[in-house]
Amino acid sequence: MTETSLPKGRDSIDQDQFLTILSREDALERFEAALFPRDVPSEQRKLADALGCTLAGDVVSPIDVPPFDRSNVDGFAVRSADLASATEFAPVPLMLNEEIIVCGAAPAHPVLSETATPIATGGPIPRGADAVVMVEHTQPSGVRAIEVRRAASPGQFVSFAGSDIARGEALLRAGTVIGSREIGMLAACGIAEVPVARSVRVAVISTGDELVQPGEPLRPAAIYDSNGAIVAAAINENGGKAVFYGAIPDDEGQLEAAMRKALAESDMLVLSGGTSKGAGDLSHRIITRLGQPGIIAHGVALKPGKPLCLAVCGGKPVVILPGFPTSAMFTFHDMIVPVLRRMAGLPPRSDATVTAKVPVRIASELGRTEFVMVSLVEGADGLIAYPSGKGSGAITSFSQADGFLRIDALADQMPAGSEATVTLFTPHVRVPDLVIVGSHCTGLDLVTAPLARAGLAVRSIAVGSLGGLAAAKRGECDLAPIHLLDDKTETYNAPFLSEGLELVTGWRRMQGIVFQRGDQRFEGLSAEQAVRAAIADPTCIMVNRNQGAGTRILIDRLLGEARPDGYWNQPRSHNAVAAAVAQGRADWGMTIAPVARASNLGFIPLAEEHYDFAVVEARKRRLAVQAFLNALASDEARAALANAGFRPA
Ligand code: AMP
Ligand code: MG
Repeated sequence: MTETSLPKGRDSIDQDQFLTILSREDALERFEAALFPRDVPSEQRKLADALGCTLAGDVVSPIDVPPFDRSNVDGFAVRSADLASATEFAPVPLMLNEEIIVCGAAPAHPVLSETATPIATGGPIPRGADAVVMVEHTQPSGVRAIEVRRAASPGQFVSFAGSDIARGEALLRAGTVIGSREIGMLAACGIAEVPVARSVRVAVISTGDELVQPGEPLRPAAIYDSNGAIVAAAINENGGKAVFYGAIPDDEGQLEAAMRKALAESDMLVLSGGTSKGAGDLSHRIITRLGQPGIIAHGVALKPGKPLCLAVCGGKPVVILPGFPTSAMFTFHDMIVPVLRRMAGLPPRSDATVTAKVPVRIASELGRTEFVMVSLVEGADGLIAYPSGKGSGAITSFSQADGFLRIDALADQMPAGSEATVTLFTPHVRVPDLVIVGSHCTGLDLVTAPLARAGLAVRSIAVGSLGGLAAAKRGECDLAPIHLLDDKTETYNAPFLSEGLELVTGWRRMQGIVFQRGDQRFEGLSAEQAVRAAIADPTCIMVNRNQGAGTRILIDRLLGEARPDGYWNQPRSHNAVAAAVAQGRADWGMTIAPVARASNLGFIPLAEEHYDFAVVEARKRRLAVQAFLNALASDEARAALANAGFRPA
């Protein structure tokens, strides 16, 4: 058993936190041991309402299907022995009996030797007959007779009673999810109702003073409650029936009341947030008052997801997922889904996996099982798995990723070039038609829009200009959008291209100083004057850009030796600069005109940045690359770019 005792903290909150970190396996084992075995509660469902339900017990066929020996073709019921000598040249004559057998009518007359009875497909085989000959292999002969030109083997064109399903045979096993085919089988056996697992009712509560429900206006410093929606959906995908009790503020009284009500009304309670260190982290303390045995694990060696808390109160699982949405989802899928499915009578999930090569080294924390979301692209020899560079706070990585890989707790990295098993989020890999790796720009979406409409899957992976160039050199993408300024030659992009890459001109983005409209320190000035004024005012705070950004070179030139307050705040995107100024964390920074406009900020233009594409020559002839280049040159894209504040080149 892997247990690590952590030093106790000073205050009471610290003392409550993560006294014991369990390994993923130990935590799951203890959680399951506290919950199972248990009965799967079931209910009878009418066939029409059973779609998607899980069978709670084996279903045995009460009848033979078909219930009688049945003809498979339109023709004549015969005794095969009569036709032993029949050939094309020596047809055998048979007298026709006095009836025609159709579906739904029981035959009245036996087939005696040297007679035949006309029979329709699905008609019951009459007494005496043991085969059917097709009408095509006969010809009329006189009024009430036929000639048969082929011999018939016993049982020919007959489906025997019970040959499809025999009475007493297990038709469907417990745990089967009922789909249209299963419904058809049940109906064929005359079964109108089946025992299904009652869906597990799972209460979902989000916690945090900062949470606002989607659809409501966002207050300053608030964020939208994404966990409530995503956790509820994931519960419904795995045999549960989620009931959302809303986002509850970090108030002990309110939260306890909500948790007690939710637990009383449900089979399971899933909370998110409020499990890491912080003043509002109350839920786990409340759990200790909700019933025995209480907390099973608080702190699991998972990344993301360490603060996960697993408890069982009065026989019901109570879980606190970490607050960050991706942490919440990974821990939910890894640790909660197995338990939920078992409670719902469902078999374990079987997610599809693929093997892919990891192009870059992925650092990992020793001692924690780490999940890394990846985007898959097609490389020269097999799939390549790009780790999505965003942290556990990033929700978009989920929708852009194709799956995830797991780094063992005992590894401190996954070296570049490793072969990794990727668990897919979808049943199959859909390799994108066009892969764009590099610096992202909102203008890119305007160019790729017609490709998406034409059914081409476009994958854009934002790793910055230099990361894009490296990927292009390795042949892992079709094109890399870049905006790199060469300080010496004062030119953009071309100096950075290596063999095998071709520069295709994109568009120009005007860079300039942003500030809050009406700020008299900047209104009406040139960029040089504005920066001088800002440096002269010691209360003025700037927001910088990261080292290596072309925009950073411009900022450094304007600043010279000056290092104003805010210089070390170096976000990596134009949008982050605009947000810092718009929200008053900084007074000025440098971004591009379309971003300034979208944030309604004042803007002093300075110099155009060239946003171009390094196209991998070996991939240029591909259909999707051609479609992209055509779209880039189209009037439609140029107009859309101009309209958004870019200057098509
Ligand atoms: P906590 O565990 O409550 O300290 O939350 C950790 C982080 O996750 C904080 O940034 C929270 O704002 C965020 N968070 C918590 N709950 C949610 C939620 N329901 N939806 C989105 N983010 C959340
Ligand atoms: Mg919180």
